[in-house]
Amino acid sequence: MEPSQVTIIGSGLIGRSWAMVFAAGGFKVKLYDIAQQQLTSALENIRKQMKELEESGFLKGTLSAEQQLALISICTDLKAAVEGATFIQECTPENLELKKKIFGQLDLIVGNTVILSSSTSCLLPSKLFTGLKHVKQCIVSHPDMGNGGCRRQAALEDTVKTRSVEFDIPEKVKAKVVKPLAQVNPPYFVPLVEIVPHPETDPSTIESTYALMKKIGQSPVKLNRETEGFVLNRLQYAVISEAWRLVGEGVISPTDLDLVMSDGLGMRYAFIGPLETMHLNAEGISNYCERYREGMRLVLNTFGPVPEFSGEIEQKINQAMSEKIPVVPKVLDARRKRRDEYLTGLAKLKKQM
Ligand code: NAD
Repeated sequence: MEPSQVTIIGSGLIGRSWAMVFAAGGFKVKLYDIAQQQLTSALENIRKQMKELEESGFLKGTLSAEQQLALISICTDLKAAVEGATFIQECTPENLELKKKIFGQLDLIVGNTVILSSSTSCLLPSKLFTGLKHVKQCIVSHPDMGNGGCRRQAALEDTVKTRSVEFDIPEKVKAKVVKPLAQVNPPYFVPLVEIVPHPETDPSTIESTYALMKKIGQSPVKLNRETEGFVLNRLQYAVISEAWRLVGEGVISPTDLDLVMSDGLGMRYAFIGPLETMHLNAEGISNYCERYREGMRLVLNTFGPVPEFSGEIEQKINQAMSEKIPVVPKVLDARRKRRDEYLTGLAKLKKQM
């Protein structure tokens, strides 16, 4: 039987990752972009990643790298790209006007059954999809990268520019560069996908998207309604906010703050969430509340307003982080590769458990 086809709009970091995840699930993937060069380098990058994953035994799915690669094709014609697709995943830059334009174009050419899904990190479905003829078929499927949040477009462009600059690296910095095994885009190993509906999204669109994500090995969660930052970034920002305050008030150093998460809280959060943690840390949730309600409220009442994320505290944290990991593209990239290796190892461990 001919495999179902999905179309990925935009072949950057996230588009490539989706292409790999769908191909691993046995789907035919059409990768669309406005720039032919971007598509060519996306395919090369995907090939390299898949080969390395296969060699290290981490390739997802039951097909070989060659079989998965054969499922992926590239296209610069939007109409041809979406023809025959049952699911379209949009992965263009985080820019409301651009995304609205693309969904407007799609709205004119798709039928009544295909699902139109966006990877947006923080644009609300009500901003993206309102007024579309096919709004019932529209949804956000936000993959977790663990490294990004709601970035503004200007910041995104700055990052791209900085990354393309070559620097001379001093010897003492070179020593800090670790040799990585392979670079794999994190969504390949961080399976969470937040499914966020528009108020008019049909329940069948939510259910089908959820089932599809499960089928390709992702870990979908359903939001019953949209909220700024969705859930992952709301949790992430809550942690960042308190971390910022604690360092800013001189309670702890930036590097020790990070250890509290990586060698403390974070160890269990990779396996069980905060609510189950409460449940297990007492004789169930009610018992936890009975025991810790007062203490939690006492501490939470000492939390302050939303930090500015600028000025002296920013400088202090930046200095500490830069001493540990110099802000030099090659050093940062090596550290990112190391992070991805850790994620790979963790994903493997989680599978064994
Ligand atoms: P990116 O800049 O790496 O890639 C964007 C791609 O879109 C580029 O290949 C570009 O050529 C293409 N593009 C631009 N205009 C287009 C158009 N009109 N039609 C088709 N393609 C077009 O961006 P990214 O990091 O892959 O992010 C894509 C989306 O995923 C964003 O909405 C982002 O918020 C979201 N997201 C990103 C991350 C992250 O950490 N990078 C995490 C989760 C979600």
